[in-house]
Amino acid sequence: MASACDRNEPISPKIALSRRDMLLASAAAALVAGPISAAAAPSTPPPGAGIDPAMTPDQALAEIMAGNARFVAGAPIAHLKDLEIIRAHAVEGQWPIAGVLSCADSRAPVEMVFDEPMGRLFVTRVAGNITTPEIIASLEYGVAVLGIKVIVVMGHSSCGAVKAAMQNAEVPGQISALFPALLPAVYMSKSKDPTIVTRTNATIQAATLINASTVIEDAVQSGALKVVPAVYDVGTGKVELLPIPEAMRVKK
Ligand SMILES: [Zn+2]
Repeated sequence: MASACDRNEPISPKIALSRRDMLLASAAAALVAGPISAAAAPSTPPPGAGIDPAMTPDQALAEIMAGNARFVAGAPIAHLKDLEIIRAHAVEGQWPIAGVLSCADSRAPVEMVFDEPMGRLFVTRVAGNITTPEIIASLEYGVAVLGIKVIVVMGHSSCGAVKAAMQNAEVPGQISALFPALLPAVYMSKSKDPTIVTRTNATIQAATLINASTVIEDAVQSGALKVVPAVYDVGTGKVELLPIPEAMRVKK
């Protein structure tokens, strides 16, 4: 069997790609030729899956925020549903209602925070909840193929990645790779308070998600998707939705 790279045409030295870029390009081509193009529109959930295809972005947001209220109140219910859902519907596919871009921090367990069972949230996590190309690609899949209605970009209190970027000190390994995406929040917030920088970062990353992705921007402009910045308090468990800047709202 030919390797992924064997299928690539010879490339000009002017646009020489790294092996990683070539592998990514090849994988992307395979995806476009396969499941994504075959499922240009989200598939219809089976009857009884508890999914309403007509759910609006505001309804999806209201559902997960109601779940956060149950989590804060110490009365979650999602864990009671999991086994039933696994047995009945997980093998048939996935129809998540919301995407979440969260920090990797162990104190921000997304499904628990929104009291949602498996299959309901499409979660991407990376330190500092930053919009890397891979994160954007994953969320594009969630929007274009899975039909998620809302994306919450969720920073959190006491974020080590934000604090490290604010200090901008020498760090071991590749940790500093996170800093370029976090520094705009450090500079734009004009603050030495990590809480304020974290809030600014969530808003910047949400805006970047829209600006960097025509898939996500088009879905926002059509009203099919809402992108909302938020911050999670690791002490209280509460998620606070942040204002959506004018530039991120529907223009039509
Ligand atoms: Zn963090």
